[in-house]
Amino acid sequence: PAVYHFENEPDTDFILPANRAWAEAIRDKWQHIGEREGGFSAYPVIGGRIVQRDETVTVIDKSQYHENKRAGSYVEATPEDMAAAIDTAQADPDGWRKLTPHARQKIMMEVAHAIRVARGDLIGIAAAEVGKVFTETDVEVSEAIDFVNFYPYSVTKLAGLTGVEAKGKGVGLIISPWNFPVAIPTGGIAAALAAGNTVILKPAEASILTAYRLCQCFWEAGVSMNTLQFIPGRGSAVGEHMIPSKGIDFTIFTGGEETAYRIIKARPDIHLSAETGGKDATIVTAMADRDQAIGHVMASAFHNSGQKCSATSLLVLEKELYDDEEYKRQLKEAAESMQTGSVWDFSNRVGTLVDRPAGKLAQALELLDEGEEWLLAPDYADRGNPYMLTPSIRWGTASGDFCHMNELFGPVLSVMRAEDLEDAIGIVNATGYGLTSGLESLDHREQEQWKATLLAGNLYINRGTTGAIVLRQPFGGMRKSAIGSGRKAGGFNYVSQFMDITYRETNL
Ligand code: NAP
Repeated sequence: PAVYHFENEPDTDFILPANRAWAEAIRDKWQHIGEREGGFSAYPVIGGRIVQRDETVTVIDKSQYHENKRAGSYVEATPEDMAAAIDTAQADPDGWRKLTPHARQKIMMEVAHAIRVARGDLIGIAAAEVGKVFTETDVEVSEAIDFVNFYPYSVTKLAGLTGVEAKGKGVGLIISPWNFPVAIPTGGIAAALAAGNTVILKPAEASILTAYRLCQCFWEAGVSMNTLQFIPGRGSAVGEHMIPSKGIDFTIFTGGEETAYRIIKARPDIHLSAETGGKDATIVTAMADRDQAIGHVMASAFHNSGQKCSATSLLVLEKELYDDEEYKRQLKEAAESMQTGSVWDFSNRVGTLVDRPAGKLAQALELLDEGEEWLLAPDYADRGNPYMLTPSIRWGTASGDFCHMNELFGPVLSVMRAEDLEDAIGIVNATGYGLTSGLESLDHREQEQWKATLLAGNLYINRGTTGAIVLRQPFGGMRKSAIGSGRKAGGFNYVSQFMDITYRETNL
């Protein structure tokens, strides 16, 4: 029988001594993984088998990048592999699509358990591969477990409705980013599988090892290697060889808007769910709990080095706060206290960037718009390690400036001055994005005004702007932040977009 019950998975409490000891054991296992047996390896998994070849691609250990150590290696999928994966997914040799929603739910509950067991490995591999701090990956693992439990549950609810016939669209291609190397691929896989589709995962090149360990959880738990196939490789190759294939029925993409537009251009005929970038802001009014606001802004702006689509990258201060020299000093000191360095040292709050600053982030580090200054200048920790960018604050960003309008995807916070709340809301809405947004104010009327006029998919009052929770606060943007369907990940209507639904009426 189906399980009509859902509870969110708890995160690990690292304050507890037993959990700290567990974290140390994870560190012992993964910190120098490259020196032991060459590290962790990933392979294409196609047509029910693991494809091993002599030629491999080295994965550099991001946590110790400057020492040029390896975290492992992967075998890159060839165009022939990609074609074979699509053929298998279409044929569905193990009959996943024919299973009832309840039967699929049962297997997915086993997957959730396998991910729970693999929590330590996922934390350790993500630390080595993308330089993500333990606590940040830990919450992702909880979210991943939630997706795997919740999506089949939402489908069994749908299947239970009278007169509804719902079946999967066929073959789903999941393209995931590296910044949430666990939760985002899991969400896509779980939704597509729960809807009754066969699935091909193409993770970001930067997080292939983490994604492979994740897929092992699905395979161990009974989702076959024909039902979930794995394509390690570069985005450009998948864009060229897989997206145009008529064998792909829908795509679930999370990443930059340019890539989303490229996919739409190549396949305007298929359903695309595209979660893209944000230029997320927190507004702090004169009615805020000022000290609390600083803590929320620091965590939202600088955790994961600001490499979150939901990260606060604009801080809009009402003039009373902006002009208060004491508040300015407190903000600076708070940002300075965000210790940057190796993720294996648990006192560091900010780890390694996935790559040297490039693109818009590099531009923001070099340019100051007219009238702007650094309240806290960017620097590189760990003897100038180019991957360890410390938190920085630009002061005096004006409307329309580069840092007002562009997603930077790094630990750079731009501060703007607003006359009042209405002015602040106008500043935020002018970005054209609409993913997450925060308000720090204890005033009920201000909260109502902000909720009614601020354009973003996820609104946060008196808390940080990151960390949506499956079912309790589903996640997803509007405007430039949701180029595809704009449905909410972790919400009840998410999975139905990957199904063909028929409403029957029978006159008995
Ligand atoms: P990206 O370059 O668009 O990459 C995302 C994924 O697309 C990767 O798997 C990438 O593979 C793949 N890809 C690249 N070019 C492709 C092509 N031509 N055809 C098919 N796939 C292709 O994005 P990113 O820079 O890694 O990620 C950062 C962006 O993601 C930011 O804008 C961020 O806000 C957004 N993001 C949004 C959300 C959300 O939920 N809204 C969550 C996380 C991140 P390779 O890595 O192998 O190139």
